[in-house]
Amino acid sequence: MTIDPVCKMTVEPQNAAAKAEHQGVTYYFCCDHCRKEFTARPEKYLGKSQGGEHSGHSHGHHH
Ligand SMILES: [Zn+2]
Repeated sequence: MTIDPVCKMTVEPQNAAAKAEHQGVTYYFCCDHCRKEFTARPEKYLGKSQGGEHSGHSHGHHH
C-alpha cells in the first residue's frame, strides 16, 4: 500500500489508476487527474520544504 501524494488517499499499487516515475521513484495515484497534478508540480507534492512557502526569512539563526 502506498499514498497518493496529491490527495493523500491510500492506493494499492496493483489497483492504481495511474502512476508516474519521478527521480527514480514510482508514485501511484487514485486517478489520472492526480497524476497530472503531480507531474506538473512534483516538488509541491513531495513536501521537500514543509511549510516552507514563506520561508524567505527563516534561515539566519541567531545563536
Ligand atoms: Zn488522488
